[in-house]
Amino acid sequence: MREFQEMMKNLYLKRDLERGVSGTFNWLVAEVAELGEELKGSNREATEKEFADVIAWLTSLANIRGIDLEKAALNKYNYKCPKCQSSPCACTF
Ligand SMILES: [Zn+2]
Repeated sequence: MREFQEMMKNLYLKRDLERGVSGTFNWLVAEVAELGEELKGSNREATEKEFADVIAWLTSLANIRGIDLEKAALNKYNYKCPKCQSSPCACTF
């Protein structure tokens, strides 16, 4: 995750900063919607590309705000469920 975020920083940080939080967030939302549409079908290759787009825009947003995604994710989901503190999660649905 850290390596991917660093790569995205090198590729897009300048453009991401120019677009800003709001514009980048709108792209992320649009890509999440596209992923949702793709998940209704069965085209694995197209679905993989939509997952990639969602991760890319989420990462761009984190880069604009200076959020280390790997650190943030592992701080919250540190090999156990943050709610029940178990692994695997034992929360009731
Ligand atoms: Zn749980």
